[in-house]
Amino acid sequence: MSEEMLNDMRSRVDRIDDQLLELLSERARIGLRIGELKAGLNRPLRDPDREKETLNRLAARNAGPFDEAAVRRLFREIVKATLELQQPEKKKALLVSRKSKADDTVIRLGDTAIGGGQPVLVAGPCSVESREQVRRTAAALAEAGVPVIRGGAFKPRTSPYDFQGLGFEGLKLLKEAADEFGLLAISEIVDPRHLEQACDYVDIIQIGARNMHNFELLKAAGELRKPVLLKRGLAATMDEFLHAAEYIVSRGNGEVMLIERGIRTYEKWTRNTLDISAVPLLKRESHLPVLVDVSHSTGRKDIMAPCAKAALAAGADGIMVEVHPNPPEALSDADQQLDFDEFREFVREVKASGLYRQGAP
Ligand code: PEP
Ligand code: MN
Repeated sequence: MSEEMLNDMRSRVDRIDDQLLELLSERARIGLRIGELKAGLNRPLRDPDREKETLNRLAARNAGPFDEAAVRRLFREIVKATLELQQPEKKKALLVSRKSKADDTVIRLGDTAIGGGQPVLVAGPCSVESREQVRRTAAALAEAGVPVIRGGAFKPRTSPYDFQGLGFEGLKLLKEAADEFGLLAISEIVDPRHLEQACDYVDIIQIGARNMHNFELLKAAGELRKPVLLKRGLAATMDEFLHAAEYIVSRGNGEVMLIERGIRTYEKWTRNTLDISAVPLLKRESHLPVLVDVSHSTGRKDIMAPCAKAALAAGADGIMVEVHPNPPEALSDADQQLDFDEFREFVREVKASGLYRQGAP
């Protein structure tokens, strides 16, 4: 008997849902017409006073059993959905999303393709410090078959009293060394006014973690016709990261690479927490290449190789690692940079996994 009653009531609820849907659809169609009329009258789509009036009126009419807050919540959702219907461009998929472009973006620089299925290694010192330092590093990288050298010239340091980088002089030294050994060069730019000039010296512009939310820098990078490596912010969600990339891509520069570099958590045994899940999430959601920086994420030489292997196994298109001829004397990030022997061992271990095949055998 009670089973029958339950089924009967469920059928009644289903019928009411059907009617509600019909009414909601009718309401939405009227909403669309209102949107067109407003556009014709040059009136804004959103009318907060009218929304407030509507919710107040319904709250006053409400006889229960829903409480007032529930009624307001339900109708607020209806109003929001109508507004979204009236401005379909707001619902459009991001340009960086796979919904907009299903195929992987491949960034081709000379013989190197980033995002084409063959992972790349990006290595080099935290900072460019001298001609000799960057030249020796470039030689070691070329010998190991690494195609891209990194080196900071504009350093976003925590303390204003710490080494701030050599600026354009550093970029020149980086380019000189890269050219001599046939490498591509990448360096971070922090000031939108420096971007254009920096393009004369580097093949890829890096936007650092601290600047992932610097929207003016992102917009300016979007005007360039130069690949950009965008680092994940120190506490950026996937959504924020992808929207930061969207700032660049929406301005016309589609050559953007994303790089996970660890996020801030309570954990103290690593410099940051490497979020490996970011790799498959970003690969799934976006067509842009995804790299992993094992130096700034872990800050620990002893786990960089396993973390690099994990990143590649998770689908990363490349690995970034800091290398310095004499790390204890480095002017920044001295503790985490690999010396040349450590670097060769790192490459050997990563290659032995079979996950990284580019470069010299
Ligand atoms: C860097 O790569 O030189 C750097 C400063 O890293 P991040 O922006 O990830 O801290
Ligand atoms: Mn560094």
